[in-house]
Amino acid sequence: MRTQVGIVGAGPAGLTLAVLLRRRGIESVVLEARSREYVEHRIRAGVIEQGIADLLVGAAVGQRMQREGIVHHGISLQFEGGRHRIPLTELSGGKSIVIYGQTEVVKDLIRVRIDDDGPLLFEVDDVQLRDVESERPRLTYRHEGGSHELECDVIAGCDGFHGVCRPSIPEGVLSSFSREYPYGWLGILAAVAPSSDELVYAHHERGFALLSLRSHELSRLYVQCRPDEDIDAWPDERIWEELQIRLGLPGWTLAEGPVLEKGVTGMRSFVVEPMQYGRLYLAGDAAHIVPPTGAKGLNLALHDVSVLADALAEWYRDGSTALLDAYSATCLRRVWRAEHFSWWMTSMLHTPEHADLFDLKLQLSQLRYVTTSEAAARSLAENYVGLGVV
Ligand SMILES: Cc1cc2nc3c(=O)[nH]c(=O)nc-3n(C[C@H](O)[C@H](O)[C@H](O)COP(=O)(O)OP(=O)(O)OC[C@H]3O[C@@H](n4cnc5c(N)ncnc54)[C@H](O)[C@@H]3O)c2cc1C
Repeated sequence: MRTQVGIVGAGPAGLTLAVLLRRRGIESVVLEARSREYVEHRIRAGVIEQGIADLLVGAAVGQRMQREGIVHHGISLQFEGGRHRIPLTELSGGKSIVIYGQTEVVKDLIRVRIDDDGPLLFEVDDVQLRDVESERPRLTYRHEGGSHELECDVIAGCDGFHGVCRPSIPEGVLSSFSREYPYGWLGILAAVAPSSDELVYAHHERGFALLSLRSHELSRLYVQCRPDEDIDAWPDERIWEELQIRLGLPGWTLAEGPVLEKGVTGMRSFVVEPMQYGRLYLAGDAAHIVPPTGAKGLNLALHDVSVLADALAEWYRDGSTALLDAYSATCLRRVWRAEHFSWWMTSMLHTPEHADLFDLKLQLSQLRYVTTSEAAARSLAENYVGLGVV
């Protein structure tokens, strides 16, 4: 089998790339290890920057998001018993964010891909990359009991942090930069209307908490925990109790409801440079990870593939490799801005297990500054809604 672009991974990055390429008349085949059911129900991100929402709308994947997504114009920071609103739209020249679950983005992308008659193979095993340095890279894989080979012009590694594409690059080519945090997030999805119209990021002596949402009927809530926290030690009652303490304010009630899903996510910052090798281009979590505090992971993944789609379109159209050659450098500027912002939000809001009072005083001073200085609030706002290249 032959295609122009072999895409490994049907997460947000791989699926969006397939759709963007199709809009430019470029063929691709998407290979995904998991089932469609699994991919469509993997609960993850839910905050979409306006520029990324516009990208989805421009690719004709955004109609349901425009109908069902909830546009937010601010977030709140809570600390020392007070809640302070950051008016994102007012401070960012009119930009906003859209609340729309990653699960829904993925469902919309899969539907469009299938409507486009684009090859999308689920439950593919043993994907291996071959001859990536050559002009005819290949993907070999097993599917429905048979062995297959896919010859490509280029390969897009959109297979997430634990995928096979990044490790297939020879040792010594990539430099990696990382930071592990002594925090995890215990997250729940609850069948209850969100108790706040906008996201609330709470700094608390017992640890960070976040009140978020996925729709008018579904709340998404998190409490800071250890990265290796045993989820079995957290029955639903204990989670609600902790959320009530950390998010609680006099005169405001956190509504509780049935917990539909819960899990612990460790927090990590990670970047590899460069994001390309031979005819292999890495995109999204395959190349970089951010802690979720800045809500950037999904947004970065979609930005990468929009850069890659434009670069491939120019190459197929004019034979110019200028944009492809610059792919990694172009993406990494935005990646590092998001890495800094995510690290900064994480550092400001999470309480170390053995809190050092000096650190705590610095956090509170920073929170007071961000919520009282327009310049500081503007900086948070423009990063949160999505900065271009800096
Ligand atoms: C538990 C969790 C919670 C998160 N919460 C947030 C959040 O609140 N906010 C936020 O902004 N970000 C969040 N993120 C990050 C965000 O979800 C990711 O940045 C985003 O999914 C990246 O998309 P991607 O397509 O690059 O990678 P992925 O979504 O990881 O997709 C990669 C795909 O490749 C497939 N794959 C892997 N290996 C292979 C293989 N060998 N062969 C074929 N296919 C393969 C995988 O099954 C997967 O479908 C969260 C991440 C996790 C893990």
